Amino acid sequence: MHTDFDVAIAGAGPVGLLIANFLGQRGIRTVILEQLPELIDYPRGVGIDDETLRTIQAAGLIDSVMEHVTPNQIMHFTSSSGRIFASLQPTTDEFGFPRRNSFIQPLVDKVLADGLKRYPCVDLRFGQEVAAFEQDDDRVSIQFTGGQPPLTARYLVACDGGNSLIRRSLGIKFEGRTAANRWIVVDIANDPLGAPDSFLHGRPSRPYVSIALPHGLRRFEFMLFDGEAPDDVVSDEMLHSLLQPLIARPDDIDLIRARVYRHNGRLAERFRDGRIILAGDAAHIMPVWQGQGYNSGVRDAFNLAWKLALVVDNKANDSLLDTYGAERREHARAMISLSEAAGVIFSPTNRIVAKFRDALVRFIGIIPSIRSYFLEMRFKPMPRYKEGALFYQQGYADNSAVGRMFIQPLVDRAEGPVKLDQVLGNGFALLAWGVDPRRWLDDQALRIVEDLGIKIISAVPSTQAAFERKRSDLEIVGDHQGRLKTWFGLQNRAVVLLRPDRFVAAISSPQEVSHAIKEFARIASIKL
Ligand SMILES: Cc1cc2nc3c(=O)[nH]c(=O)nc-3n(C[C@H](O)[C@H](O)[C@H](O)COP(=O)(O)OP(=O)(O)OC[C@H]3O[C@@H](n4cnc5c(N)ncnc54)[C@H](O)[C@@H]3O)c2cc1C
Repeated sequence: MHTDFDVAIAGAGPVGLLIANFLGQRGIRTVILEQLPELIDYPRGVGIDDETLRTIQAAGLIDSVMEHVTPNQIMHFTSSSGRIFASLQPTTDEFGFPRRNSFIQPLVDKVLADGLKRYPCVDLRFGQEVAAFEQDDDRVSIQFTGGQPPLTARYLVACDGGNSLIRRSLGIKFEGRTAANRWIVVDIANDPLGAPDSFLHGRPSRPYVSIALPHGLRRFEFMLFDGEAPDDVVSDEMLHSLLQPLIARPDDIDLIRARVYRHNGRLAERFRDGRIILAGDAAHIMPVWQGQGYNSGVRDAFNLAWKLALVVDNKANDSLLDTYGAERREHARAMISLSEAAGVIFSPTNRIVAKFRDALVRFIGIIPSIRSYFLEMRFKPMPRYKEGALFYQQGYADNSAVGRMFIQPLVDRAEGPVKLDQVLGNGFALLAWGVDPRRWLDDQALRIVEDLGIKIISAVPSTQAAFERKRSDLEIVGDHQGRLKTWFGLQNRAVVLLRPDRFVAAISSPQEVSHAIKEFARIASIKL
């Protein structure tokens, strides 16, 4: 049946824009429908993590985005007495980027929107407010306010934010709670403090956060007490009284915006209803404590886009789309829980709770392993998919690398070292340690490799790369940092099948590679 587009996306926030970039990369006819006349231009998200930067790298926009990022943002925590008791400064870069970074959301969102100009198959339309929709077995019809002509698409992705009309219209419950605390978020240009790090001051008299942002911006977030300020207006007097203890001249600031927010933690009861799929804030919202709202939406985008593309391209059955919710929903729930727990720890308004917290943290600080667990941010739940488009050879195992994001070390090409993903490309990849897996591909596995465009690469110790390149027509990379050898060593297997979102789909020995590819294809509903 004819439709105007393959995929319609409601909402031009970061999640809708990223999905559209990935669909554009794969030549899918896509329209983004945004109710506003332009992108939201005020600061919102300020924390961007390593997984998100890797995702933007895959969208081919990392260089322009990094212009609006401060890498390695350190966050200090102060006790009730104002003493720094801990500093988050993770040093690992397993996915190829630092773990904690600050950024300016509207500038990065603009890069994502400009990126769409590369794809003639993607149409970004402003001033189009989705008012209603209906779906049947073949398509979704979408109507707009203001009498604009309706349109049809095979799938509709709801990226229309936390108040999603689409989610509400479908009657999908948004389970969770709204915290009692309200916060004033104040964004200021020409940073009156200027210090490069960020602080979370846990004083019970008024917890507040002070965050250094790129391009000389500063964000303050102050907890409000009951009845202190109305929900919609922040008066000049209020602002002055909040800033006065912190900066020299509170009357002389370049205020961008001051707004009152409540912290919500909510999760949609399901992420899919037939041809309609929820992503980003439409599917989950969480307190800003871990800065994971934006990043969780980006994870959705990376996870969903390649699946949608395969289904639309008729290479996979529609049931592949069910794996999106199966994989993403549990992780979003874990992030909400972590963000809520952090809020309880960092914003005590009760002196006894604050003293207990300070004592506990001092105790934790003396034990090196626990200390590094916190400061290296190993408490952050890494996406780990137990079920979905994954092949666990002997059933699910906790210590398996299947269902986890693969590392991104530097690898040597003939012309010099590059990040691994530059070699992997944007689709599936079969990465082998020291062997040529083609030796064991049977006819059916080979056909899947060709149909899915799986790129085959072999990694060897850097010392052997030049020699191997001379005797093989396979793409050979050198293990520049020795991290691939360590990774494969721990798995005790030599071949890994990677999905386009860099998650490990299957691991096998060279001789079992055909079986692994075929089983993955079966589980992922690939049309054989
Ligand atoms: C003050 C604040 C601070 C934050 N800090 C952080 C942080 O530090 N780190 C972090 O990771 N996240 C943070 N977030 C969250 C982050 O900004 C969001 O998670 C992120 O923007 C969600 O992206 P999205 O694309 O899902 O939705 P949105 O960015 O909300 O985009 C939704 C879009 O849909 C459009 N839309 C809505 N309804 C319709 C309709 N009917 N038809 C057409 N278009 C429609 C809207 O106009 C909007 O453009 C913060 C948010 C706020 C408000």
